[in-house]
Amino acid sequence: MKKVLSFDIDQTLNIAKTPIPDEIADLLKKCLDHFEICPISGQKFDQFLIQIVNRLEGATPEQLSHLHLFVAQGTQYYRFNKEKNDWELVYNYPLTDEQVTKISQTIEKSAKELGYWEEDKLKEGDEIIENRLSQVTFSALGQKAGTSEKYKWDPDYKKREAIVKKCKEYAPEFDYEIGGTTSINAITPGMNKEFGMTHLLEELKVDKKDVLYFGDMTQPGGNDYPVVQMGIDTITVRSHEDTAYALRGILGVI
Ligand SMILES: [Mg+2]
Repeated sequence: MKKVLSFDIDQTLNIAKTPIPDEIADLLKKCLDHFEICPISGQKFDQFLIQIVNRLEGATPEQLSHLHLFVAQGTQYYRFNKEKNDWELVYNYPLTDEQVTKISQTIEKSAKELGYWEEDKLKEGDEIIENRLSQVTFSALGQKAGTSEKYKWDPDYKKREAIVKKCKEYAPEFDYEIGGTTSINAITPGMNKEFGMTHLLEELKVDKKDVLYFGDMTQPGGNDYPVVQMGIDTITVRSHEDTAYALRGILGVI
């Protein structure tokens, strides 16, 4: 039997950017009694709390101790400390200050040259470029802008593709991924899910064959593909409904 169930988040456990639905929360809680549960995604720790942890109402500290959060593609790992009744950071592979500065300047310069630097539209105290430790994130309208406003900014990705193209010219040593509705994430190459999954195996002291992974972007070029390439058993889902279906099956045979 598998020891670890690992999950992409957006479109695998939820509708992108929203908290997991009741059914998934309920199934994950049940799974915590039998497996180590490891969500892994490019998002920050706060989002893991909002989208997953806060939805597991009634989960005991014992259950939470089997939940492992692989944040920012697994460049940060948090686990639940039962004694302290809180999450603790186990490791973190941040970008260096020089890398953060270079990426920030490159994105700002590229966006300004294209006329996409929307500083005047920011809400008070908000910022366009955010240092998320293991990645630098550009959010064209800041973090606090409304969803519909954000959606209208670049629905066909053309603006961000143009920014990424320029960034690639100015600082080709980094990878730039388009995400969300207004975002570009800059990372160092290789900081993808293979990095996170390799550390997961090490930290949980398990073998590849002990892991079952769920993701919606398992095709070549998709952000779940590195896991497939590692030879880890993978279930490709179209949405959280497929995941729920598979989890019911798994729980049904335990
Ligand atoms: Mg996904």
